[in-house]
Amino acid sequence: MQLDELPAITDDQLRPCDGCGCKILHAGPTFWLLRPVRAVVDLASCRERFGLAMLFHGNEVIARQFAARPLARTFDQAPFGGTGEILLCEHCACTRPVASLIPVETAHG
Ligand SMILES: [Zn+2]
Repeated sequence: MQLDELPAITDDQLRPCDGCGCKILHAGPTFWLLRPVRAVVDLASCRERFGLAMLFHGNEVIARQFAARPLARTFDQAPFGGTGEILLCEHCACTRPVASLIPVETAHG
């Protein structure tokens, strides 16, 4: 695939690295634009599925068909100024856990 055929990133998406604050290309010509999505398991759904599985003699596949609630849900989809995107230089992307870059009030609130 040629470079011109790849999806473009607009100039307004570029900013200093969210990990180290350095210019995005300081570690090389490649960088990462991530859209992390945090998820949580619905414990009520777990209990429901467990009960249904027992009802169907341990068959979790059938239990899943009768479950009324999804097993998990997502939240915290846009912690970075509403974009939900983390921009990382190559070095930070390879060395820092993504969850450590999420603002604390969002990650634990
Ligand atoms: Zn960095």
